[in-house]
Amino acid sequence: MLSVDQALQLVLQHAQPLPPRRVQLDEALGLVLAEEIVSDIDSPPHDKSVVDGYALRAADIASPNVHLRVLEEVTAGMLPTLTVESGTATRIMTGAPIPDGADAVVMVEQTEFAEGGRVRIDAPTVRPGQNITRRASSLSRGKTVLVPPKRLRGVELGLLAEVGRTSISAHPRPGLAILATGNELVSPSQLPGPGQIRNSNSALLHGLSAQAGTLSHSLGIARDAAIDLRNGISAGLQTRILVLSGGVSAGVLDLVPQVLVELGVEQVFHKVNLKPGKPLWFGVKRHADGQPPTLVFGLPGNPVSSLVCFELFVRPAIQKLSGLAPTGLPRGTAELTKDHPQRGERPTYWPSVVRDAGGKPEVSPLPWKGSGDLATLAGANCLACFPPGERVFKAGEMIGVMHLPS
Ligand code: AMP
Ligand code: MG
Repeated sequence: MLSVDQALQLVLQHAQPLPPRRVQLDEALGLVLAEEIVSDIDSPPHDKSVVDGYALRAADIASPNVHLRVLEEVTAGMLPTLTVESGTATRIMTGAPIPDGADAVVMVEQTEFAEGGRVRIDAPTVRPGQNITRRASSLSRGKTVLVPPKRLRGVELGLLAEVGRTSISAHPRPGLAILATGNELVSPSQLPGPGQIRNSNSALLHGLSAQAGTLSHSLGIARDAAIDLRNGISAGLQTRILVLSGGVSAGVLDLVPQVLVELGVEQVFHKVNLKPGKPLWFGVKRHADGQPPTLVFGLPGNPVSSLVCFELFVRPAIQKLSGLAPTGLPRGTAELTKDHPQRGERPTYWPSVVRDAGGKPEVSPLPWKGSGDLATLAGANCLACFPPGERVFKAGEMIGVMHLPS
Protein backbone atom coordinates (compact mmCIF):
# COMPACT_ATOMS: atom_id res chain seq x y z
CA MET A 1 0.00 0.00 0.00
CA LEU A 2 1.20 3.54 -0.77
CA SER A 3 2.54 5.70 2.01
CA VAL A 4 1.07 9.16 2.61
CA ASP A 5 4.15 10.75 1.01
CA GLN A 6 4.04 8.50 -2.06
CA ALA A 7 0.32 9.17 -2.52
CA LEU A 8 0.84 12.92 -2.14
CA GLN A 9 3.61 12.88 -4.76
CA LEU A 10 1.23 11.17 -7.19
CA VAL A 11 -1.49 13.74 -6.53
CA LEU A 12 0.95 16.61 -7.05
CA GLN A 13 2.27 15.10 -10.29
CA HIS A 14 -1.23 15.45 -11.70
CA ALA A 15 -1.91 18.89 -10.26
CA GLN A 16 -0.52 21.75 -12.33
CA PRO A 17 -1.03 25.48 -11.72
CA LEU A 18 -4.07 26.70 -13.66
CA PRO A 19 -3.10 29.02 -16.54
CA PRO A 20 -3.10 32.64 -15.36
CA ARG A 21 -5.81 35.05 -16.47
CA ARG A 22 -6.12 38.81 -16.50
CA VAL A 23 -8.33 39.87 -13.59
CA GLN A 24 -9.57 43.23 -12.40
CA LEU A 25 -8.26 44.40 -9.08
CA ASP A 26 -11.66 44.21 -7.38
CA GLU A 27 -11.83 40.48 -8.21
CA ALA A 28 -8.26 39.66 -7.21
CA LEU A 29 -8.55 39.20 -3.44
CA GLY A 30 -7.28 35.75 -2.44
CA LEU A 31 -5.93 34.90 -5.90
CA VAL A 32 -2.27 34.13 -6.50
CA LEU A 33 -0.31 36.69 -8.48
CA ALA A 34 1.35 35.32 -11.63
CA GLU A 35 3.47 38.30 -12.74
CA GLU A 36 6.13 40.56 -11.30
CA ILE A 37 4.80 44.01 -10.43
CA VAL A 38 6.96 47.10 -10.97
CA SER A 39 6.21 50.56 -9.61
CA ASP A 40 5.45 53.26 -12.18
CA ILE A 41 5.84 56.04 -9.62
CA ASP A 42 7.95 57.39 -6.82
CA SER A 43 6.16 57.25 -3.50
CA PRO A 44 5.87 59.71 -1.99
CA PRO A 45 6.05 61.70 -5.22
CA HIS A 46 7.72 64.66 -3.45
CA ASP A 47 9.35 65.43 -0.11
CA LYS A 48 6.24 65.71 2.05
CA SER A 49 5.19 66.89 5.46
CA VAL A 50 4.03 64.22 7.89
CA VAL A 51 2.30 66.74 10.19
CA ASP A 52 0.20 69.90 10.01
CA GLY A 53 2.55 72.75 10.90
CA TYR A 54 5.14 75.17 9.52
CA ALA A 55 7.89 74.43 7.02
CA LEU A 56 11.01 76.41 7.91
CA ARG A 57 14.79 76.40 8.06
CA ALA A 58 16.01 74.40 11.07
CA ALA A 59 18.97 76.76 11.54
CA ASP A 60 16.50 79.62 12.26
CA ILE A 61 15.34 77.95 15.47
CA ALA A 62 18.39 78.34 17.67
CA SER A 63 16.38 79.61 20.66
CA PRO A 64 12.74 79.33 21.87
CA ASN A 65 10.14 81.95 20.92
CA VAL A 66 11.47 82.72 17.45
CA HIS A 67 9.05 84.69 15.27
CA LEU A 68 8.90 83.94 11.53
CA ARG A 69 6.99 85.66 8.73
CA VAL A 70 4.37 83.34 7.15
CA LEU A 71 4.71 83.25 3.35
CA GLU A 72 1.72 81.18 2.23
CA GLU A 73 -0.44 78.17 3.07
CA VAL A 74 0.01 74.85 1.22
CA THR A 75 -2.50 72.03 1.59
CA ALA A 76 -2.22 68.47 0.21
CA GLY A 77 -2.73 68.53 -3.55
CA MET A 78 -1.27 72.07 -3.94
CA LEU A 79 2.26 73.08 -4.91
CA PRO A 80 4.22 75.74 -2.95
CA THR A 81 4.98 78.90 -4.94
CA LEU A 82 7.49 80.66 -2.68
CA THR A 83 10.97 79.77 -1.43
CA VAL A 84 11.43 79.68 2.34
CA GLU A 85 14.29 81.95 3.29
CA SER A 86 15.81 82.73 6.67
CA GLY A 87 13.20 84.36 8.90
CA THR A 88 10.21 82.96 7.01
CA ALA A 89 7.96 79.88 7.17
CA THR A 90 5.16 78.33 5.10
CA ARG A 91 2.00 76.98 6.74
CA ILE A 92 1.82 73.35 5.54
CA MET A 93 -0.65 70.48 5.93
CA THR A 94 0.00 66.75 6.19
CA GLY A 95 0.96 65.27 2.81
CA ALA A 96 1.70 68.60 1.13
CA PRO A 97 5.02 69.15 -0.71
CA ILE A 98 7.85 70.83 1.21
CA PRO A 99 8.63 74.26 -0.26
CA ASP A 100 12.09 74.99 -1.64
CA GLY A 101 14.41 76.35 1.00
CA ALA A 102 12.70 74.62 3.95
CA ASP A 103 14.43 71.66 5.58
CA ALA A 104 12.12 70.87 8.52
CA VAL A 105 8.51 71.11 9.69
CA VAL A 106 7.42 72.10 13.18
CA MET A 107 4.06 70.69 14.21
CA VAL A 108 1.25 73.20 14.70
CA GLU A 109 0.94 72.25 18.38
CA GLN A 110 4.39 73.80 18.96
CA THR A 111 3.46 77.11 17.35
CA GLU A 112 1.24 80.10 17.96
CA PHE A 113 -0.17 82.52 15.42
CA ALA A 114 1.22 86.02 16.09
CA GLU A 115 0.37 89.55 14.99
CA GLY A 116 1.29 90.79 11.52
CA GLY A 117 1.14 87.53 9.62
CA ARG A 118 3.79 85.97 11.82
CA VAL A 119 4.09 82.72 13.74
CA ARG A 120 5.83 82.13 17.05
CA ILE A 121 7.74 78.83 17.15
CA ASP A 122 7.70 77.23 20.55
CA ALA A 123 10.06 74.34 19.85
CA PRO A 124 13.40 74.51 21.71
CA THR A 125 15.38 73.06 18.77
CA VAL A 126 14.57 71.75 15.33
CA ARG A 127 16.53 69.03 13.55
CA PRO A 128 17.01 69.22 9.75
CA GLY A 129 14.67 66.69 8.14
CA GLN A 130 12.26 66.77 11.07
CA ASN A 131 8.70 65.71 10.07
CA ILE A 132 9.67 65.30 6.42
CA THR A 133 9.29 62.07 4.43
CA ARG A 134 11.65 62.07 1.48
CA ARG A 135 10.56 61.57 -2.09
CA ALA A 136 10.66 57.86 -3.17
CA SER A 137 11.51 56.70 0.34
CA SER A 138 8.74 54.08 0.17
CA LEU A 139 8.79 53.19 -3.55
CA SER A 140 10.87 54.28 -6.48
CA ARG A 141 9.85 54.14 -10.11
CA GLY A 142 11.02 50.90 -11.75
CA LYS A 143 11.35 49.06 -8.45
CA THR A 144 9.82 45.56 -8.16
CA VAL A 145 7.12 45.66 -5.51
CA LEU A 146 5.56 42.17 -5.73
CA VAL A 147 7.00 38.89 -6.92
CA PRO A 148 4.92 35.80 -7.83
CA PRO A 149 3.67 33.53 -6.42
CA LYS A 150 1.93 35.70 -3.86
CA ARG A 151 -1.57 35.28 -2.47
CA LEU A 152 -3.20 38.68 -2.65
CA ARG A 153 -4.51 40.11 0.61
CA GLY A 154 -6.03 43.53 1.20
CA VAL A 155 -2.59 45.06 1.67
CA GLU A 156 -1.37 43.82 -1.73
CA LEU A 157 -4.52 45.16 -3.41
CA GLY A 158 -3.70 48.56 -1.89
CA LEU A 159 -0.13 48.37 -3.14
CA LEU A 160 -1.29 47.37 -6.64
CA ALA A 161 -3.63 50.36 -6.66
CA GLU A 162 -0.78 52.62 -5.51
CA VAL A 163 1.35 51.57 -8.50
CA GLY A 164 -1.57 51.98 -10.89
CA ARG A 165 -2.33 48.32 -11.58
CA THR A 166 -6.07 48.02 -12.12
CA SER A 167 -5.71 44.58 -13.67
CA ILE A 168 -3.15 41.86 -13.11
CA SER A 169 -2.29 38.34 -14.21
CA ALA A 170 -3.36 35.80 -11.57
CA HIS A 171 -4.13 32.10 -11.35
CA PRO A 172 -7.88 31.45 -11.12
CA ARG A 173 -9.28 29.63 -8.13
CA PRO A 174 -9.86 25.97 -8.92
CA GLY A 175 -13.57 25.25 -8.73
CA LEU A 176 -14.42 22.30 -6.49
CA ALA A 177 -17.55 20.16 -6.64
CA ILE A 178 -18.72 18.04 -3.72
CA LEU A 179 -20.81 14.89 -4.13
CA ALA A 180 -21.91 12.96 -1.04
CA THR A 181 -22.87 9.35 -1.61
CA GLY A 182 -24.87 6.91 0.49
CA ASN A 183 -28.36 5.44 0.79
CA GLU A 184 -28.39 6.27 4.48
CA LEU A 185 -27.93 10.02 4.04
CA VAL A 186 -30.59 12.65 4.62
CA SER A 187 -30.30 16.39 4.39
CA PRO A 188 -29.17 18.26 7.55
CA SER A 189 -32.61 19.88 7.66
CA GLN A 190 -34.26 16.48 8.28
CA LEU A 191 -34.52 14.37 11.41
CA PRO A 192 -32.91 11.06 10.46
CA GLY A 193 -35.28 8.07 10.42
CA PRO A 194 -34.24 4.55 11.46
CA GLY A 195 -30.91 3.62 9.87
CA GLN A 196 -30.39 7.12 8.50
CA ILE A 197 -27.78 9.79 9.27
CA ARG A 198 -27.48 13.41 8.25
CA ASN A 199 -25.12 14.34 5.43
CA SER A 200 -22.49 16.27 7.38
CA ASN A 201 -19.69 15.81 4.84
CA SER A 202 -21.01 18.24 2.24
CA ALA A 203 -21.03 21.08 4.77
CA LEU A 204 -17.68 19.94 6.20
CA LEU A 205 -15.99 19.82 2.80
CA HIS A 206 -17.54 23.11 1.72
CA GLY A 207 -16.06 24.76 4.82
CA LEU A 208 -12.65 23.11 4.39
CA SER A 209 -12.54 24.19 0.74
CA ALA A 210 -13.25 27.80 1.65
CA GLN A 211 -10.58 27.66 4.36
CA ALA A 212 -8.16 26.26 1.78
CA GLY A 213 -8.87 29.27 -0.43
CA THR A 214 -11.24 27.98 -3.07
CA LEU A 215 -14.93 28.02 -3.87
CA SER A 216 -16.99 24.87 -3.84
CA HIS A 217 -20.47 23.89 -4.84
CA SER A 218 -22.47 20.92 -3.68
CA LEU A 219 -23.94 18.40 -6.09
CA GLY A 220 -26.16 17.03 -3.32
CA ILE A 221 -26.46 13.38 -2.38
CA ALA A 222 -26.13 10.46 -4.81
CA ARG A 223 -27.66 7.15 -3.80
CA ASP A 224 -25.54 3.99 -3.91
CA ALA A 225 -26.83 3.13 -7.39
CA ALA A 226 -24.82 3.35 -10.60
CA ILE A 227 -27.35 5.59 -12.37
CA ASP A 228 -27.46 8.13 -9.55
CA LEU A 229 -23.68 8.14 -9.15
CA ARG A 230 -23.21 8.57 -12.91
CA ASN A 231 -25.39 11.68 -12.97
CA GLY A 232 -23.66 13.30 -10.02
CA ILE A 233 -20.14 12.40 -11.14
CA SER A 234 -20.75 13.56 -14.73
CA ALA A 235 -21.79 16.97 -13.43
CA GLY A 236 -18.76 17.10 -11.14
CA LEU A 237 -16.31 16.27 -13.92
CA GLN A 238 -16.93 19.73 -15.40
CA THR A 239 -15.05 21.17 -12.40
CA ARG A 240 -11.27 21.26 -11.79
CA ILE A 241 -11.60 19.23 -8.59
CA LEU A 242 -14.32 16.71 -7.77
CA VAL A 243 -14.50 15.49 -4.20
CA LEU A 244 -16.77 12.57 -3.40
CA SER A 245 -17.48 11.22 0.04
CA GLY A 246 -18.30 7.60 0.77
CA GLY A 247 -18.58 4.51 -1.36
CA VAL A 248 -14.85 3.80 -1.79
CA SER A 249 -14.43 1.02 0.79
CA ALA A 250 -15.03 -2.69 0.34
CA GLY A 251 -18.79 -2.81 0.99
CA VAL A 252 -21.23 -4.35 -1.50
CA LEU A 253 -22.64 -0.89 -2.31
CA ASP A 254 -19.25 0.86 -2.60
CA LEU A 255 -19.69 1.51 -6.30
CA VAL A 256 -17.84 4.81 -6.63
CA PRO A 257 -14.48 3.57 -8.06
CA GLN A 258 -16.22 1.42 -10.66
CA VAL A 259 -18.52 4.24 -11.85
CA LEU A 260 -15.62 6.70 -11.96
CA VAL A 261 -13.61 4.38 -14.19
CA GLU A 262 -16.67 3.78 -16.43
CA LEU A 263 -16.90 7.55 -16.90
CA GLY A 264 -13.28 7.74 -18.07
CA VAL A 265 -11.57 8.73 -14.85
CA GLU A 266 -8.14 7.04 -14.76
CA GLN A 267 -7.38 5.56 -11.37
CA VAL A 268 -4.03 6.74 -9.99
CA PHE A 269 -4.29 4.98 -6.64
CA HIS A 270 -6.77 3.35 -4.28
CA LYS A 271 -5.92 2.96 -0.59
CA VAL A 272 -3.21 4.72 1.36
CA ASN A 273 -1.47 3.51 4.48
CA LEU A 274 -2.97 5.89 7.04
CA LYS A 275 -5.54 6.04 9.80
CA PRO A 276 -8.18 7.29 9.46
CA GLY A 277 -8.61 7.47 5.69
CA LYS A 278 -7.19 4.24 4.27
CA PRO A 279 -9.81 3.72 1.49
CA LEU A 280 -8.92 7.01 -0.27
CA TRP A 281 -9.28 6.82 -4.07
CA PHE A 282 -7.62 9.25 -6.47
CA GLY A 283 -7.88 9.56 -10.23
CA VAL A 284 -7.73 11.99 -13.13
CA LYS A 285 -10.19 12.76 -15.91
CA ARG A 286 -8.53 14.24 -19.00
CA HIS A 287 -10.62 16.44 -21.27
CA ALA A 288 -10.58 16.37 -25.06
CA ASP A 289 -11.28 20.13 -25.37
CA GLY A 290 -7.94 21.24 -23.91
CA GLN A 291 -9.33 22.10 -20.47
CA PRO A 292 -7.03 21.19 -17.58
CA PRO A 293 -7.75 17.70 -16.23
CA THR A 294 -10.21 17.17 -13.38
CA LEU A 295 -8.67 15.73 -10.21
CA VAL A 296 -11.06 13.28 -8.56
CA PHE A 297 -10.80 12.41 -4.88
CA GLY A 298 -13.00 9.64 -3.49
CA LEU A 299 -12.82 10.30 0.24
CA PRO A 300 -13.95 7.70 2.76
CA GLY A 301 -17.40 8.54 4.15
CA ASN A 302 -16.59 8.85 7.81
CA PRO A 303 -16.32 12.56 8.51
CA VAL A 304 -12.98 12.51 10.33
CA SER A 305 -11.49 10.33 7.57
CA SER A 306 -12.83 12.83 5.06
CA LEU A 307 -11.21 15.72 6.89
CA VAL A 308 -7.85 13.98 7.29
CA CYS A 309 -7.75 13.02 3.60
CA PHE A 310 -8.84 16.51 2.57
CA GLU A 311 -6.11 18.19 4.58
CA LEU A 312 -3.39 15.71 3.54
CA PHE A 313 -4.20 15.49 -0.18
CA VAL A 314 -6.91 17.87 -1.41
CA ARG A 315 -5.53 21.03 0.24
CA PRO A 316 -2.05 20.65 -1.35
CA ALA A 317 -3.72 20.01 -4.71
CA ILE A 318 -5.79 23.21 -4.32
CA GLN A 319 -2.62 25.09 -3.41
CA LYS A 320 -0.77 23.80 -6.46
CA LEU A 321 -3.63 24.50 -8.91
CA SER A 322 -3.93 27.98 -7.38
CA GLY A 323 -0.27 28.68 -8.14
CA LEU A 324 1.05 28.28 -4.59
CA ALA A 325 3.67 25.93 -3.17
CA PRO A 326 1.76 22.80 -2.08
CA THR A 327 2.84 22.92 1.54
CA GLY A 328 -0.43 21.68 3.09
CA LEU A 329 -1.19 22.64 6.66
CA PRO A 330 1.61 24.01 8.85
CA ARG A 331 3.47 21.36 10.80
CA GLY A 332 5.62 21.23 13.88
CA THR A 333 6.59 19.01 16.77
CA ALA A 334 5.38 18.99 20.36
CA GLU A 335 5.94 17.10 23.57
CA LEU A 336 3.29 14.53 24.55
CA THR A 337 1.59 15.38 27.85
CA LYS A 338 0.46 11.83 28.54
CA ASP A 339 1.09 8.23 27.51
CA HIS A 340 -0.67 7.32 24.30
CA PRO A 341 -1.09 3.71 23.10
CA GLN A 342 -0.80 3.34 19.34
CA ARG A 343 -2.43 0.30 17.77
CA GLY A 344 -1.75 -1.14 14.35
CA GLU A 345 0.77 -0.59 11.62
CA ARG A 346 -0.69 2.57 10.08
CA PRO A 347 0.51 6.12 10.79
CA THR A 348 -2.31 7.72 12.73
CA TYR A 349 -3.60 11.30 12.69
CA TRP A 350 -5.18 11.81 16.10
CA PRO A 351 -7.36 14.83 17.05
CA SER A 352 -5.41 16.70 19.73
CA VAL A 353 -4.83 20.02 21.38
CA VAL A 354 -1.44 21.68 21.06
CA ARG A 355 -0.56 24.63 23.28
CA ASP A 356 2.40 26.72 24.18
CA ALA A 357 3.74 25.76 27.60
CA GLY A 358 6.18 28.54 28.44
CA GLY A 359 7.90 28.61 25.06
CA LYS A 360 7.75 24.88 24.31
CA PRO A 361 4.77 23.34 22.54
CA GLU A 362 3.01 20.42 24.19
CA VAL A 363 0.28 18.23 22.75
CA SER A 364 -2.58 16.37 24.44
CA PRO A 365 -4.42 13.72 22.44
CA LEU A 366 -8.20 13.99 22.95
CA PRO A 367 -10.42 11.02 23.94
CA TRP A 368 -11.36 10.45 20.32
CA LYS A 369 -13.87 7.69 19.51
CA GLY A 370 -12.84 7.01 15.93
CA SER A 371 -13.46 8.15 12.40
CA GLY A 372 -17.14 9.01 12.92
CA ASP A 373 -16.41 11.24 15.94
CA LEU A 374 -16.64 14.74 14.53
CA ALA A 375 -17.70 16.13 17.92
CA THR A 376 -14.28 15.42 19.49
CA LEU A 377 -12.49 16.70 16.40
CA ALA A 378 -14.34 20.00 16.85
CA GLY A 379 -12.44 20.47 20.13
CA ALA A 380 -9.05 19.83 18.50
CA ASN A 381 -6.64 22.41 17.07
CA CYS A 382 -4.23 19.91 15.56
CA LEU A 383 -3.78 16.34 14.46
CA ALA A 384 -1.01 14.54 16.32
CA CYS A 385 0.91 12.36 13.85
CA PHE A 386 1.82 9.02 15.42
CA PRO A 387 4.19 6.95 13.30
CA PRO A 388 3.25 3.31 12.63
CA GLY A 389 4.12 0.65 15.17
CA GLU A 390 2.13 -0.91 17.98
CA ARG A 391 3.52 0.62 21.16
CA VAL A 392 2.85 3.13 23.90
CA PHE A 393 4.16 6.61 23.14
CA LYS A 394 5.36 7.93 26.47
CA ALA A 395 4.60 11.29 28.05
CA GLY A 396 7.56 13.56 27.23
CA GLU A 397 8.22 12.06 23.77
CA MET A 398 8.31 14.52 20.87
CA ILE A 399 5.80 13.84 18.10
CA GLY A 400 4.75 15.60 14.89
CA VAL A 401 1.65 17.79 14.80
CA MET A 402 -0.33 19.21 11.90
CA HIS A 403 -2.04 22.47 12.87
CA LEU A 404 -5.69 22.64 11.83
CA PRO A 405 -6.89 25.91 10.30
CA SER A 406 -8.35 28.28 12.87
P1 AMP B 1 -18.64 4.67 3.39
O1 AMP B 1 -17.29 5.28 3.15
O2 AMP B 1 -19.63 5.02 2.34
O3 AMP B 1 -18.52 3.21 3.64
O4 AMP B 1 -19.17 5.31 4.71
C1 AMP B 1 -18.48 5.11 5.93
C2 AMP B 1 -19.24 5.72 7.07
O5 AMP B 1 -19.35 7.12 6.90
C3 AMP B 1 -20.66 5.20 7.22
O6 AMP B 1 -20.94 5.05 8.60
C4 AMP B 1 -21.48 6.30 6.63
O7 AMP B 1 -22.77 6.33 7.13
C5 AMP B 1 -20.69 7.54 6.98
N1 AMP B 1 -20.93 8.57 5.98
C6 AMP B 1 -20.88 8.39 4.64
N2 AMP B 1 -21.17 9.54 4.01
C7 AMP B 1 -21.42 10.44 4.97
C8 AMP B 1 -21.78 11.82 4.93
N3 AMP B 1 -21.95 12.47 3.79
N4 AMP B 1 -21.95 12.47 6.10
C9 AMP B 1 -21.76 11.80 7.27
N5 AMP B 1 -21.41 10.53 7.36
C10 AMP B 1 -21.25 9.84 6.23
MG1 MG C 1 -21.50 4.47 1.79
